[in-house]
Amino acid sequence: MMNLAQQIDQDGYDVRRFSHGLYIGGMWRPSSDGRLIDVVDPSSGAVIAAVPDATLEDAAAAVEAAARAAKGWRETAPRKRSEILRRCFELMVERSETLAMLIALENGKALRDARGEVAYAAEFFRWNAEEAVRITGEFGTAPSGTNRIVVDYEPIGICVLITPWNFPAAMATRKIAPALAAGCTVILKPASETPLTAYALAALYSEAGVPAGVVNVITTTSPGRLTFAMLADPRVRKLSFTGSTGVGRTLLAEAAKHVISCSMELGGNAPFLVFDDADLDAALDGAMIAKMRNAGEACTAANRIYVQSGIHDAFADGLSKRMAALKVGAGTNADTECGPMITRKAVDKIDRLVKDAIERGAKVLCGGSILDREGFFYPPTVLSAVSPEADMAHEEIFGPVAPITMFEAEDQAIAYANDTEYGLAAYIYTRDVGRGMRVASGIEAGMIGLNRGLMSDPAAPFGGVKQSGLGREGGQHHGIAEFMEAKYIAVTF
Ligand code: NAP
Repeated sequence: MMNLAQQIDQDGYDVRRFSHGLYIGGMWRPSSDGRLIDVVDPSSGAVIAAVPDATLEDAAAAVEAAARAAKGWRETAPRKRSEILRRCFELMVERSETLAMLIALENGKALRDARGEVAYAAEFFRWNAEEAVRITGEFGTAPSGTNRIVVDYEPIGICVLITPWNFPAAMATRKIAPALAAGCTVILKPASETPLTAYALAALYSEAGVPAGVVNVITTTSPGRLTFAMLADPRVRKLSFTGSTGVGRTLLAEAAKHVISCSMELGGNAPFLVFDDADLDAALDGAMIAKMRNAGEACTAANRIYVQSGIHDAFADGLSKRMAALKVGAGTNADTECGPMITRKAVDKIDRLVKDAIERGAKVLCGGSILDREGFFYPPTVLSAVSPEADMAHEEIFGPVAPITMFEAEDQAIAYANDTEYGLAAYIYTRDVGRGMRVASGIEAGMIGLNRGLMSDPAAPFGGVKQSGLGREGGQHHGIAEFMEAKYIAVTF
């Protein structure tokens, strides 16, 4: 059995190799001032690699490279673009174990979650390879009868893509694949905590035949300064951001100055509703997935669990038994079920939220305090009788904490669910499909899992309402449409 380093070396993903490369115009290069960003293993707190800290000059070089590649890529036949994307999918599948280990190493998520992420991330290439050859326009007669209306869909132009650390592969491919399918060239700025996956994927794209400059990757400790500079370049026409609502608001304000098209996948505060008539085991299975995928570090994570009084005690008991039984450990350990949080700061935030809930009357059913060990660990925790006024009912916990609140009536459950500025995802468990659909239409969210704890699918539109974002990723046409502009041609003949 090979160890991680040997496996990474075998596939050409030696993490140490990335200590000298921004990926710009198909070349690996250091930052213009030679500075580096340390990459930390959250399971131990140890520095495992370093990546370049890009400067304004490097960001300008990345935009220049994307601009140079734009015409050639836009004019590349859709079939050819499709085949290259398909090859990206195949290479990701071939390298999936190595990529999963890399994600587990730098992000800390359990290997089984990392494997799931790689499979999900690769699907965006397969799906968009299929979509690339199905971009159609419209043709019709003007109501006046004087002319024909032709609508053509064109690539929007150079795109700046910014991604978070919680899904280092999937958040990148969910943007890169549709952008490339649409004919755009891109600059990706991954999160500073998890740059290695983004760079490993960049090496894979070039091997798949993505031409130099079509995808550029830069890492920086000055994301605001560099992003603002790139948005000020008139050749940049799109900003696609996934991250927190606060940063999203700042970027929307900046993009407005240049009237740049924005797609925003922002924070969430998903309610998880369990009605008396729910299948208890199915609801518990769903809650474990919705809460514990990535140890709770997911925008779609069940952040508030509302359980009807008749099933409440059985559900709370079942959930605490399952949560308490989870194996906590380093992401790269094969048997880990709950890995570390991304940083010490994240652990401290979870601790603050749990303490606040307890002060407001919550009861600890399992977990409930920081683990005394190296790395950034917080144990799987279940709280009951959580006040709707608790801070964790209004902020993203982003950790393995399941807060349960009891409700009596359907209307009360919907009111609880909607009592948030966010509107990304929601979950409903009931055997009554009529009730399920009624509650689904009453909840303000972009995505609903009805008797399901997982809804992410490249074939379905992913995105939120309210402060959870603007636009959709994936889906039959939604994802690609974000990277295209309609051109209307009035024709008389
Ligand atoms: P974040 O702090 O907003 O960072 C996200 C990305 O933005 C990172 O690459 C970060 O770079 C960059 N960034 C930070 N400040 C910036 C600025 N002023 N200008 C330009 N870029 C800037 O979010 P995070 O902590 O990484 O991720 C967690 C958040 O993402 C949660 O709120 C979660 O719900 C949300 N999320 C949403 C979705 C969705 O699909 N809706 C999916 C996943 C995550 P640095 O790393 O260098 O700071």
